[in-house]
Amino acid sequence: MRMYVSKIDLMYEKFGKADNETVCAECQHFLRIKHHGKVYRKCEVYGNTSSDATDWKAGYVACGLFGKEYQMDRPLVEFSHFEDEQIPGQMSLEDVFNIEEMESGINERTNDII
Ligand code: SF4
Repeated sequence: MRMYVSKIDLMYEKFGKADNETVCAECQHFLRIKHHGKVYRKCEVYGNTSSDATDWKAGYVACGLFGKEYQMDRPLVEFSHFEDEQIPGQMSLEDVFNIEEMESGINERTNDII
C-alpha cells in the first residue's frame, strides 16, 4: 500500500517536477484567496477543501504542470488516491451481504426470466 508523504509529493508523483527552479507562487494554478481579511494559498489543481489540509506553500518547487493546462475536470483532492485502501472501521459490501448468495439469487432469477 503506497502512502504519500505530502501534498506536493503527490503532485510530483502525478506530474513530475518543473525543469527549472520555478516555484508554485509563479504558477497560473496557484491561488491567493482572500477571506475575512486573511489570505489563503491554494493549488487549484490539487484542490481546495476550505481547510488547512489544502493550504499551499508559495515556495514549493513547482511541479511539472507549471505553465501547462490541467486536463482533468476536477481537482486531485476529489480523486481518491486511497481508492484501494479501506478506511479503518469501514465495512465492505462483502461484510454486509453474502455476495455469492446474492449472485446465485440473481442467476436464479435471470434463469426464471429466461
Ligand atoms: S506548480 Fe504544480 S503544485 Fe505548484 S501551484 Fe502549479 S500546479 Fe500546483
